[in-house]
Amino acid sequence: MDKIVRINMGAAGGPKVETTPVGAYAGLGGRALTSAVVSKEVPPLCHALGEDNKLVISPGLLSGSAASMSGRLSVGCKSPLTGGIKEANAGGQPSQMLARLGYAAIILEGKPKDDTLYKIVVNAKGVTIKPDNSLKKIGNYDTVEKIKKEFGDKVSVISIGQAGEMKLAAASIACTDMEMRPTRHAGRGGVGAVMGSKGVKAIVIDDSGCKMRAPKDAEAFKDAMKRWADGLKKHPVTGQGLPAFGTNVLTNVVNEAGGYPTKNFMWGKFDNCTKISGETQAAMENARGGEGSATHGCHTGCIIRCSGTYYDKDGHYLTKQPEYETVWAHGGNCGIDDLDVIAQLDRLDDDFGLDTIEMGATIGVA
Ligand code: SF4
Repeated sequence: MDKIVRINMGAAGGPKVETTPVGAYAGLGGRALTSAVVSKEVPPLCHALGEDNKLVISPGLLSGSAASMSGRLSVGCKSPLTGGIKEANAGGQPSQMLARLGYAAIILEGKPKDDTLYKIVVNAKGVTIKPDNSLKKIGNYDTVEKIKKEFGDKVSVISIGQAGEMKLAAASIACTDMEMRPTRHAGRGGVGAVMGSKGVKAIVIDDSGCKMRAPKDAEAFKDAMKRWADGLKKHPVTGQGLPAFGTNVLTNVVNEAGGYPTKNFMWGKFDNCTKISGETQAAMENARGGEGSATHGCHTGCIIRCSGTYYDKDGHYLTKQPEYETVWAHGGNCGIDDLDVIAQLDRLDDDFGLDTIEMGATIGVA
């Protein structure tokens, strides 16, 4: 990860791509790198949707290597929601692939001259950007389907839905998972609106022909990796709770402690909490069956496998297993105790490209 690609979306004559050495940001990755760039290069008083804001996308430092759990992607910018430096992150395949291609970051800069929508392609040959207005106002799922038809199913995609194009402050950025579904979202702070303000609908990442990043000291790396993986497997949370019940394992725990967001945060206990708990969710997913039902990894190298796949009553794929935050936001916080309803809301949020926490909190207020 020794280079950064900057794309000036407002350049005269159309977007301009410039690839430079990582320079002053060497040794940083993920959240440290995205926040460092925003802190150093984005004027604090600029408009979050204006030309001076930057959208920085960076793989974690160990992404692209054989290290377990190393595929987290960080997204940073000035937030249109809070006005502060925002970092949101997601799993999925893009981080591993971007790192294998050698990129420490993609930085989107400037403001487009018109409302043309662009698609960026990153592969071993470099970075290209093309207008593609056929992607306008379609959801993340349809966007990924169109990209799959054009590039095949071995690429990964970072995209926005209609919410990002409309520059809504709750807009997320979607990353595709191992099944090439847009289910992993950098959700917080309206980062999707900033991607929309740059006129970029999707970034297609194709790491074919690239090798896994190699450590300098293979033996020491192998030893550290083994101890790291053993520790994760032995720990009751990462070795048992999360794989079996997902992050929604927290619902019963937090409810018992009296801190569960209930009916627009009015109470800390939800009477029907057991109907939407991680235990109930996993039992239902396992009973319905299907590939990756209650236990699933969202990127290569994940050994915790806290994710899952949610099939509807008829066995059709609906969405990924809703996370703890989605379940409290759309569930307890809205007085909803039906996992199928919560899963449908999760699917809509993922498709429009909306943050489930923001949407659940908003509906709770309404
Ligand atoms: S499935 Fe869960 S533990 Fe595994 S990479 Fe995705 S978010 Fe992390």
